[in-house]
Amino acid sequence: MECPLNFYRITPRSPEAHLFEVRLRVERPDPEGQRLYLPAWIRGSYMVRDFARNLISLSASADGAEVAVSKLDKQTWQVAPVAGPLEVIYSIYAWDLSVRAAHLDTTHAFFNGPSVFLGVAGREGQPCEVEISPPEGGAYRDWRLAVAMPPLEVDAAGFGRYRADDYEALLDYPAEMGVFDTAAFEVHEAPHRFVVSGRHKGDLKRVRRDLEAICRETVALFGALPVAAYLFLLRVVGEGYGGLEHRDCSSLMIGRDSLPHAGLEQPDKDYRRLLGLCSHEYFHLWHVKRISPEVFLRRGTEGEVYTRQLWVFEGITSYYDELILVRSGVIEPKAYLEMLAETITRVMRGSGRFKQTLEESSFDAWTKFYKQDENAPNAIVSYYAKGALLALLLDLTIREKSADTTSLDDVMRVLWQRHGETGAGVPEGGFEILARQVTGLDLEDIFASGARSTGELPLAEALRGLGIELLLRPAQSATDLGGVAEEPPEPAPAKPVLGAKWRQHGSALLLEQIFDGGAAQRAGLSPGDEVIAVDGVRVDGARLESALARTPAGEAVMLHLFRRDELLSFEVRPQPAPADTCTLCVPDEITDQQRRRREAWLRGHAESY
Ligand code: ZN
Repeated sequence: MECPLNFYRITPRSPEAHLFEVRLRVERPDPEGQRLYLPAWIRGSYMVRDFARNLISLSASADGAEVAVSKLDKQTWQVAPVAGPLEVIYSIYAWDLSVRAAHLDTTHAFFNGPSVFLGVAGREGQPCEVEISPPEGGAYRDWRLAVAMPPLEVDAAGFGRYRADDYEALLDYPAEMGVFDTAAFEVHEAPHRFVVSGRHKGDLKRVRRDLEAICRETVALFGALPVAAYLFLLRVVGEGYGGLEHRDCSSLMIGRDSLPHAGLEQPDKDYRRLLGLCSHEYFHLWHVKRISPEVFLRRGTEGEVYTRQLWVFEGITSYYDELILVRSGVIEPKAYLEMLAETITRVMRGSGRFKQTLEESSFDAWTKFYKQDENAPNAIVSYYAKGALLALLLDLTIREKSADTTSLDDVMRVLWQRHGETGAGVPEGGFEILARQVTGLDLEDIFASGARSTGELPLAEALRGLGIELLLRPAQSATDLGGVAEEPPEPAPAKPVLGAKWRQHGSALLLEQIFDGGAAQRAGLSPGDEVIAVDGVRVDGARLESALARTPAGEAVMLHLFRRDELLSFEVRPQPAPADTCTLCVPDEITDQQRRRREAWLRGHAESY
């Protein structure tokens, strides 16, 4: 067996102070002096997070004697030359409860590799060994460890020694320690585990059943399962949402009400959100983690890496994460179309789609999508949501133009064979070339107008071929995101609206976003304004909405607000709500061909696989 040359030991040393202790032994350090570093970002989450800012008190020794260490930049250390093995010890402050970093207290411990494991410059290709221990003391007696890293020698609770093939692999295994619940199932003989930490009363038997169906359907789509085992690590919280893909596992975070309660019949919106999140990260096991943008394979995580393809990876994944729910039979077609209508509404509500293309949104993810501020709806487009709609348009167009003999599924399968099985990265523009080769169709117009221009996607035409009418109407309330109907909705007069998004924060009613060209912007209202009254009468969120709705067309109201600590009044002329809310109308009366095409689109592969 090859000797691991980099050996890490990680222990939650002071859970009450949120400190991990990490010891690193470098068996054969660089004779010129060893450089050590932490990544600036974690793969899958395109923002520089500077994990090194949480590293505290690093020291090094060799043969029992202290060795000098100097800092080269924000994330790099230089250790003086030593003759024998090098020992490094440092602490990591872990108080970021997200799927991207590390979190430690007396109730649990969670870490991602980029937050805790120093890279050994020049030795990245060598295998690493890690010993993971629980905190000391009887209070942690019941703690267990869940991690997807291959074990070498571990105890019944999972603590002990693990091995990663190289440093990149070491960074890709998040770990959860504490007391948690587990559901297990097999997909094509590969054990799958679903681990839930955080307080909950969810029905895990139900989750296991639904998740198994989703995983089977995804495997059937690609035609192969490239892992020997898979781990879903879910943390439930009061409020929160996030997911991060890894090669053999995923980290997920969601509100605890998203777990299904016992006796739940059809999945409700909350549970659908959890299933969609699991489906999304599982899809990434192929698409992103093994089929990757070529530039991601060439570049490390010391600084930003730019690609125009994030929409290909995140958009297509977002399209399939919901489609697979209906194909696996976990949700009904009507529920799927409802989710699709809401995605269309979300895209239609942002005028940023006229200012940024999908390729630009991908390229600028580092500073725009991942650093969204109050102006985001006016300035950027989501490569997830609009990317999913472009994937839908591609799929429906391929089906229509090939007389339903080919679909986006075929493109994904060949993409897997050429770039996933082989590990050859997808060059910029490579997906378009491959889609043309697989389908034999000229799809240039769709890619050019969908990904490189800010024009609207011609979705209504594409859906009509399946007997689905896409209708846009004004929102009926602040929470109206659209949905599904059998009959076209009765035309209703558009309610007067402010053209702003607000939220109630305690007793304060705060304007969060002001939409371009809306009544609020014209009147001079700004994000952060605290609205207190309309026409001299105190309002909260509900009263503001009804006061606006009662305003006769063309008339003005006086809005009183605090901007910082200054009292201001503005005359606002509410405008009719724009037609930005999608209803997908699914009439009973459709042609046989429309019905066949719709069924083929929503039909799963798992049974025939
Ligand atoms: Zn994703």
